[in-house]
Amino acid sequence: MTLSTAEIRQTFIDYFKKHGHQPVASSSLVPADDPTILFTNAGMNQFKDVFLGAEKRSYTRAVSSQRCVRAGGKHNDLENVGYTARHHTFFEMLGNFSFGDYFKKQAITFAWTFLTEELKLPKEKLLVTVFAEDDEAFAIWENDIGVPAEKIIRINTSDNFWSMGDTGPCGPCSEIFYDHGEHIWGGPPGSPEEDGDRFIEIWNLVFMQYNKQADGSMEPLPKPSIDTGMGLERISAILQNVHSNYEIDLFQNLIKASADIVGTDDLENKSLRVIADHIRSCSFLVCDGVMPSNEGRGYVLRRVIRRAVRHGYKMGANDIFFYKLVAALAKEMGQAYPELVDQQPVIEKVLRVEEEQFSKTLARGMAMLHDTLAELDGDTIPGDVIFKLYDTYGFPVDLTNDVAREHDLKIDEAGFEAAMQAQRERAQQASQFGANYNDMVKIEHQTQFTGYVDVEGEAEVIELIAD
Ligand code: ATP
Ligand code: MG
Ligand code: MG
Ligand code: MG
Repeated sequence: MTLSTAEIRQTFIDYFKKHGHQPVASSSLVPADDPTILFTNAGMNQFKDVFLGAEKRSYTRAVSSQRCVRAGGKHNDLENVGYTARHHTFFEMLGNFSFGDYFKKQAITFAWTFLTEELKLPKEKLLVTVFAEDDEAFAIWENDIGVPAEKIIRINTSDNFWSMGDTGPCGPCSEIFYDHGEHIWGGPPGSPEEDGDRFIEIWNLVFMQYNKQADGSMEPLPKPSIDTGMGLERISAILQNVHSNYEIDLFQNLIKASADIVGTDDLENKSLRVIADHIRSCSFLVCDGVMPSNEGRGYVLRRVIRRAVRHGYKMGANDIFFYKLVAALAKEMGQAYPELVDQQPVIEKVLRVEEEQFSKTLARGMAMLHDTLAELDGDTIPGDVIFKLYDTYGFPVDLTNDVAREHDLKIDEAGFEAAMQAQRERAQQASQFGANYNDMVKIEHQTQFTGYVDVEGEAEVIELIAD
């Protein structure tokens, strides 16, 4: 019997609960007091102050399934969606944490035991990486766990050395990979083919053991800590005997729902995967209080919605469709996230309004783009075309880039930036698609002003929906 994604999430929580971990609910995708990140992108985000020692909790071990978005900022997987089997804009990160409690050996043992005994993954399909200088981790894997030395790969890049910022807690990581089989293209971690879909990273164990000083020196932390993250969709794929995250139960249901709504029976269509991915990030972002806008978080949301809409149009959708998927998503994930069900009408309305707006210019923009492609000399879409698509038709640059990639073309980003800059200098004109969503969408909750944050240099006002 194969486990459903929902059951796998619960199995993880139960396992660590049994081992003394406090279950902690997922935090919002909008980080509460952290101006340094755009969206919550890892399970540890909500525990940052606990790791730093600035906040005390009544427990020293925690477990969570954290909703994450990696569609902007330091971690941006938007451009990977539709192209790799393992990346989403929205995903759930399962994690166990030790705040000065257990350390390296126990963390490695927990992870290995969970995978090989609780989930019964075949040991021979697993391989691990350690930070090149971390002989301690290497020895634990080899001697205590019994992983053959040739399956422990030393990596000397920042991929295996994690830090919270330029200063503060940091330390080496050890990652666990699963081999999906030689019939799939890709090579082991550290090899030139590692970005293929054969060897998939499933779990990252971070050993926080130093406190990095402003002068670059590393002081050992008095109480080292553990932060881990495992992608729920990736472990589901393995347990459900499929090789792509998009083939797991949850995604198959969303893909089928998308196909019905868009009116296609080509279930293998890449665009369906993109739409199934994007409905999750867009719905959860709105659920957590982000509204489409022209800057900061809201602009990321707008970009993702427009990208999904373009893919629907490409498959022949001839009516507003994206918001209709919220119901299917609520059915899939509403039990784990009841707020999704509560907010369903709001989410639908926001997505519908955004699509209605964009659909007015999408067809004309695509027509212009196709004319350009037909006449294109060379392999690069010129900056002024990208700018016109952006400025007149509301095409975010990554959307144009998505079309370009489908045609094996590049985009002239520098040319686009120059055109943007020229426009900024001409005037700070009123935005062409600056609908005021707060007027159109009545939010049934009180909104709470949480202040100004500086997101990657852009000051913006964030309003969070308070429960
Ligand atoms: P990758 O190298 O595959 O991009 P990562 O090293 O960026 O992954 P981490 O930051 O180590 O990922 O996050 C911990 C875990 O979260 C990963 O091991 C993976 O299982 C999962 N994960 C990371 N990014 C994504 C994503 N975009 N979609 C789905 N799962 C993800
Ligand atoms: Mg990544
Ligand atoms: Mg990685
Ligand atoms: Mg990693």
